[in-house]
Amino acid sequence: MVKKRDYYEILGVERSATEIQIKKAYRKIALKYHPDKNPNDKEAEEKFKEAAEAYEVLSNPEKRQRYDQFGHAGVGGASGGGFGGMNMDDIFSQFGDIFGNAFGGSFGGSRGTARKVRGTNIRIRVKLSLKEITEGVKKKIKINRLVNAEGVTYKNCPTCNGTGRITRVTQTFLGAMQTQSVCNSCQGAGKTIDKRPKGVDASGLIRKEDIIEIEIPTGVEDGMQLNIRGKGNEGPFNGVPGDLIVLIEEIPHEHLRRDGVHLHYDAYINFVDAVLGGEVEVPTVKGKAKIKINAGTQSGKVFRLKGKGLPDINGYGNGDLLVHINVWTPKKVSKEEQKVLEKLRKSENFIPNPGKNEKGFFQRMRDIFQ
Ligand SMILES: [Zn+2]
Repeated sequence: MVKKRDYYEILGVERSATEIQIKKAYRKIALKYHPDKNPNDKEAEEKFKEAAEAYEVLSNPEKRQRYDQFGHAGVGGASGGGFGGMNMDDIFSQFGDIFGNAFGGSFGGSRGTARKVRGTNIRIRVKLSLKEITEGVKKKIKINRLVNAEGVTYKNCPTCNGTGRITRVTQTFLGAMQTQSVCNSCQGAGKTIDKRPKGVDASGLIRKEDIIEIEIPTGVEDGMQLNIRGKGNEGPFNGVPGDLIVLIEEIPHEHLRRDGVHLHYDAYINFVDAVLGGEVEVPTVKGKAKIKINAGTQSGKVFRLKGKGLPDINGYGNGDLLVHINVWTPKKVSKEEQKVLEKLRKSENFIPNPGKNEKGFFQRMRDIFQ
């Protein structure tokens, strides 16, 4: 049993290193020891795997915390054997996030064994109400996944003889150059279908209905995408499954308008309430709230209900509900009402006389958005 090296030491970073520093350090080491650059170099391969494992733990805040607290035992690697369950396919699939497609096309191809073929992603839409977005929700979703069918038999790919790679030798002015590429016939799997039951496609896959429960975090927004790893279509030849990509669609609220974490509501109050004071009921995401209207409230006043907005997706608390007061002007009045109003028309108190406390539209907007 070999004693495992410290993950921070492997990546050559401080224990206080930021995520970016860790990523940078890993990138450097991975590029140096990448198998494509060091063919048949066992030591380089071990260093490469070691760095990948260190990165896998330190790039994940939860795993990193456990590692800081409990060491290798905290992340399931105390025995010193193996590499935390990571195989080369895991390592190379991790690369997509860090290196983009720099190695993507040929990953695995030059490692001497056929690679695992990755299944395609499934995209679905999920419609959510503001209430669900506020509280978070678990949704059971029916999807049609491609899975590896039973009863399929495989044989070695005749094009690449089961290696998953095609080697070509081309003559250049520097001499003979050997290039390798992924076998087109089997996408690098090294296998092709021998016999398949009815209804099974040429990759050995068949559609199967599956019910998946997904947990939607609070505070999501229309157009956001959640990526659920490994819940997409299975990879042909028992390869790596693709992802399930969940597109969030927000069902517009009947009365509330969303603006990030804040909500807006247009409340209409009666002219008399505005003058004498009163109360107005406003809808909230979870129910209702009452606002006291002081005597002499101007149209356009904005009430801010702290915390009655939506939760921030990163956990930075709740937004507010902004209630915009509009004084309702009657469109028709009876003879009697008209008499009363005519009496008031000339009254001194009814002549508009905005003072310092009466903010115009632009001042109010500035107050809201600052
Ligand atoms: Zn092949």
